[in-house]
Amino acid sequence: MTRSPELYGIFGYPIGHSLSPLMQNTAFAHHGLDALYLPFAVHPEHIETAVKALRALAIRGVNVTIPHKQTVMPWLDELAPEARLIGAVNTIHLQDGHLIGYNTDGIGFVRSLAEEGAQVTGQRVLLLGAGGAARAIAVQLCLSGVQQLYVANRTRARAEELAMSLMQSFPHANIRVMAMEEQAFTACLPDLDMVVNATSVGMQPHAGDGEAVRASPLLPSTSLLPRHLVCDIVYHPQATPLLRAAQRQGARTVDGLGMLIHQGAEAFEIWTGRSFPLSLIRAKLLEALAKRTTPGSVPEQA
Ligand code: NAP
Repeated sequence: MTRSPELYGIFGYPIGHSLSPLMQNTAFAHHGLDALYLPFAVHPEHIETAVKALRALAIRGVNVTIPHKQTVMPWLDELAPEARLIGAVNTIHLQDGHLIGYNTDGIGFVRSLAEEGAQVTGQRVLLLGAGGAARAIAVQLCLSGVQQLYVANRTRARAEELAMSLMQSFPHANIRVMAMEEQAFTACLPDLDMVVNATSVGMQPHAGDGEAVRASPLLPSTSLLPRHLVCDIVYHPQATPLLRAAQRQGARTVDGLGMLIHQGAEAFEIWTGRSFPLSLIRAKLLEALAKRTTPGSVPEQA
């Protein structure tokens, strides 16, 4: 290597199966940019050193994935508004010597719906989950003007905490906690437009775990209606149990591949000001996933 390409990467631990290097390096090559995106397995003990090294090494940008999305925050100079609201960062940009933290997960989710011709403004949504991804999606749904947001989570206290913090940030939004119970879903779903699974259930639809193998692990399938848009942010080549159940009920479905692509697209645009070659990236991802010797889910966003 005689020249010095601009460096980008991803911080995670572990980082083995990340699809981000494929996506970002494809996009750099597409635009003819002399840039290289590398996976960095950063042990949690070293996250402070790793973030500080970005400036020292002039690494222009990184994505951040599990388990570092919150722990990087104290070492950044600035947070974008959505990262502040979400309380987590998945993209860092070194700009004029300043480290700026963004979160592109929520906007990535909404853009993946828009790509399928679906809008969230004015919609009544049931969000399953209260973890990091659910939080990013919930904030973006509120920013995008959902009419009603129900949050249901296995651990109810986490759903209550998420709803409370959303109500503080969006005092005019209509946000409620729903029990993760068949009865509650059956009563409520006829009045809703959209269901979003942001739990990790569905990652291994054929595995032996009792909860994961049920046709619809979180919802009674029959409560899904043809009028619903059902989204699962977990991606699986054979569709997750929830999406298969929704399809059987005649509902429209959106899987997690679009969110993965669009969160990467947003990061790429923040770093380079250029647009992601969306269909090229999708084709590359599908090709890479098809080549995996043991087909399985995409374990995490990046
Ligand atoms: P997280 O913070 O660990 O949250 C996990 C969520 O799943 C929690 O709400 C948890 O409920 C729930 N959960 C786990 N096992 C469950 C079970 N057996 N039954 C019911 N609920 C269960 O994880 P995350 O970062 O939010 O990620 C969630 C999923 O989204 C992961 O599978 C990840 O790969 C995927 N994801 C995809 C994208 C994408 O781009 N497509 C982006 C981000 C994440 P409790 O609170 O009760 O534990």
